[in-house]
Amino acid sequence: GLECLQTQVDAGGRPCGAELLLRWLHPVRGSVSPAQFIPLAESTGLILELGHWVLAQGCRMLVTLAQAGHDLPLSINISPRQLREADFVEQVRRVLAETGAPADRLVFEVTEGHLVENVETMLARMRELSALGIRFSIDDFGTGYSSLAYLNRMPLYELKIDRSFVQGLPDDLHARGIVETVLSIARNFSLHVVAEGVETQAQADYLRHSGCPSLQGYLYARPVPLPDWLAQQG
Ligand code: MN
Repeated sequence: GLECLQTQVDAGGRPCGAELLLRWLHPVRGSVSPAQFIPLAESTGLILELGHWVLAQGCRMLVTLAQAGHDLPLSINISPRQLREADFVEQVRRVLAETGAPADRLVFEVTEGHLVENVETMLARMRELSALGIRFSIDDFGTGYSSLAYLNRMPLYELKIDRSFVQGLPDDLHARGIVETVLSIARNFSLHVVAEGVETQAQADYLRHSGCPSLQGYLYARPVPLPDWLAQQG
């Protein structure tokens, strides 16, 4: 496994956060994308071990970032299977204690499709984690089946606009409608927004003009290992 950071930038193009992403270097197939190996890991249960490892790595990265003077929030993708584990909160507490990572710099990205199962348990768990200082982001907002009513009940910090919608900008009317709607929901619920998969200046211009506070994508930065990331900040 090779863990990478992808910078998120604010309206002025300054780094305002980063997401921890995995690249897996297979001896024969080369670089294998998470889209290929995460579903396999999910189906085999290996995701729990992988998820725990990623969380611990993320916490260590946060400590390194802080030591290097980068006081940025770090977003970590949390698998629905992890969130469903009975002792997940305890696991997180333990990793925070072991690494000394600042919980208020951690953002847990969860996919909305899975939050609708066992809603009450999920809500309780999310509230416990947010009491520790951890913030929550809905990763693929708009692609799943979540009810707007949940937005009120979840301790949410952020919505992520899925890359499939960003790809259609600025010309596709359907993509524009969804992006404007997500931004409007975020304003009304006082939530932060990150648009992911921003690859062209035209997409970035459209998003900025529409008031999207944070952007992530190849236009700004590719995912790179932490030492490279630190070197790039100069
Ligand atoms: Mn993500």
